[in-house]
Amino acid sequence: MNPTSTRPTSNHAMKPYGRHGVGIGETRVRAGALLEQGAAFMQLEAGALQAAGKAPSGDEKRSALREEYVDVVVIGAGQNGLSVGYHLARKGVKFVILEARERVGDIWRSRWDSLRLFTPARFDGLAGMPFPAARYSFPTKDEMADYLEAYARKFSLPVRTGVKVDEVTRSGDRYIVTSGRTRYVANHVVAAASSYQKPKIPDFAASLDPSIRQLHSVAYKNPSQLNAGSVLLVGASNSGAEIAMDLAGTHQVWLAGRHPGNIPVAYNGYFAMRLVLPIVFRIVFHRLLTVDTPMGRKAKPGQLAHGLPLIRVKPQDLETAGVRRLPRVAGVSDGKPLLDDGQVLDVSNIIWCTGFRAGLDWIKLPIFDETGRVQQYRGTVEDEPGLYVCGLHFQHSTSSTMIHGAARDAGYVADKIGERMRAAAR
Ligand SMILES: Cc1cc2nc3c(=O)[nH]c(=O)nc-3n(C[C@H](O)[C@H](O)[C@H](O)COP(=O)(O)OP(=O)(O)OC[C@H]3O[C@@H](n4cnc5c(N)ncnc54)[C@H](O)[C@@H]3O)c2cc1C
Repeated sequence: MNPTSTRPTSNHAMKPYGRHGVGIGETRVRAGALLEQGAAFMQLEAGALQAAGKAPSGDEKRSALREEYVDVVVIGAGQNGLSVGYHLARKGVKFVILEARERVGDIWRSRWDSLRLFTPARFDGLAGMPFPAARYSFPTKDEMADYLEAYARKFSLPVRTGVKVDEVTRSGDRYIVTSGRTRYVANHVVAAASSYQKPKIPDFAASLDPSIRQLHSVAYKNPSQLNAGSVLLVGASNSGAEIAMDLAGTHQVWLAGRHPGNIPVAYNGYFAMRLVLPIVFRIVFHRLLTVDTPMGRKAKPGQLAHGLPLIRVKPQDLETAGVRRLPRVAGVSDGKPLLDDGQVLDVSNIIWCTGFRAGLDWIKLPIFDETGRVQQYRGTVEDEPGLYVCGLHFQHSTSSTMIHGAARDAGYVADKIGERMRAAAR
């Protein structure tokens, strides 16, 4: 294995949090007084070169590629990437975590204003640091974001923010992770960019009348973004149900789609919090419904297709709030949404709560099956030794895409990396 080393030949400004990876000093070569964060800096530098009549030629651009050698590159600093980092750091492995956004936790900050976690704080901590809130309270999305940021700091995890990975390829027995003009040459790569990266919207949405305001749930912040009148939420799973409750006070709300089932007890009652939720989350979602149990293998296709049952919102809550239930949206008729039962709806707004794709198409390796899913077992990618994923739906169990499931999945991936490094050193 190669020790971590750098061969800086260009600028790629980053903000590291910690001490396990490569030092920021080495990344700031040639930057001089113009050094700024990520793309902004690259623009400044290009502008300065042009002003000086020194625009780089094609050859110069290629030679300006900066190459860095590192044992492990982790892509994504969400709960999964940070958890992998936590376990690698404890093993003394050299690694970096590359994060596209400007701050750790920004993916949570970008979610809708009123969002509170549906998991109480006792299930929102990662390994080594409990969530700093009353055990049975529901943290806000910004508290979750700040918690992740504090976690990266507490364990000095080497996160580089503002670094979007464009491509992962292979060269011999190493991986090449490219971000802008930097190439990371790595023995191991962990794609911890989760299942929630690319919004899914059906193609027929493009044929809807332009007067209808359309958003995906990822872009929804609060009711003020919408036209007056009615809102059709397409997709009746957790996001659809939660946004329906958020809008019920200001708009007429229709919720279209199959009911995914729900946890059949009052969610924040004493009994539910202390008995039912621990059983559902830690036993059913974490231990029973896994790829290693017959019950889990049976449940997996349904969960991949339809997501989790409603966790916090109950059908009665929706009814009391005046939300009307509708069948699936099947297409478009005359610019309006057409339902499975033939009804055509006159609506002012549509919010697509139709989920996400993992969006790992920047991994340019034959790791996907015919449905586009990564072929993996517990994060170890088949036929690609050294490549791992973390945070996929049902990667190992129902809890794999929940906060409380991250520690175990990440620990498993870090153990496999450790084993592989030891085998290579023998
Ligand atoms: C609306 C909503 C509410 C949720 N509420 C809960 C809840 O209450 N409790 C619970 O347990 N779970 C909840 N979840 C599920 C899950 O815990 C979160 O989605 C969580 O954010 C997933 O963590 P992750 O680390 O897998 O991925 P993410 O948090 O998505 O982090 C992945 C990171 O990778 C970065 N990234 C992506 N592509 C690249 C790239 N090419 N280069 C560099 N960086 C990249 C992203 O910027 C991001 O920061 C919720 C999900 C949603 C959508």
